[in-house]
Amino acid sequence: MDSAPVQEGLSGHTRILAVADEVDESLYGDRLPSLGVDLVLSCGDLPFDYLEYLVTRLNVPLLYVPGNHDPELRPSDSTWTPSRGDVEPPALGPEGCINLDGRVIEEQGLRVAGLGGSIRYKAGPNQYSQAQMSFRALKLDLRLRFKPARQGRKLDVLVTHAPLFGLAGADDSAHIGFVAFVRLVRAFRPLLAVHGHVHPFGRAVPERRLGATRVVNVVAARVLDL
Ligand SMILES: [Zn+2]
Repeated sequence: MDSAPVQEGLSGHTRILAVADEVDESLYGDRLPSLGVDLVLSCGDLPFDYLEYLVTRLNVPLLYVPGNHDPELRPSDSTWTPSRGDVEPPALGPEGCINLDGRVIEEQGLRVAGLGGSIRYKAGPNQYSQAQMSFRALKLDLRLRFKPARQGRKLDVLVTHAPLFGLAGADDSAHIGFVAFVRLVRAFRPLLAVHGHVHPFGRAVPERRLGATRVVNVVAARVLDL
């Protein structure tokens, strides 16, 4: 298996650059535009200036979810619920990028949903218990159920910071995944589920599968074709 940080995929309809957790220095340079990326997905815990660099250089949509090391990105007004068409809240996140946390967004022909954060293991924002994440996932589930299916699917890509429970390749308490993500994937059978949070430390992380869904740990960067 190619252990290069960015693996170039086979030709497909939508080429995704998925990033998480570690800055991939190889993306600073002429190689980035030559990758032919249609959409960038960030699974969190990356410096905002890196995401702003990617979105500026590629000039394609960048959807992101926050990781547990990111600041609180939700507005303090808890009654504010983001949805397409709303006025964006004050710029709390990376400029020019779209916060996908708890939302369903259609970009480049794909319906993408996102849930940021990790299991709570210390104080700070973007951390949740299994029950709290289940509630967030349920809200997303209800939103997806009312969408019309396209090509037999209501969801194409799930973007999370934490892994799916049992599919992390890590079982320490900070890196354990969410049961709710497994339920979402089983219910909606997206083509792809991408996550970060689990650092491979130089090891090549194999792509996994849950049913028909490709499950990919994208730390630090992966090119994926759908
Ligand atoms: Zn993390």
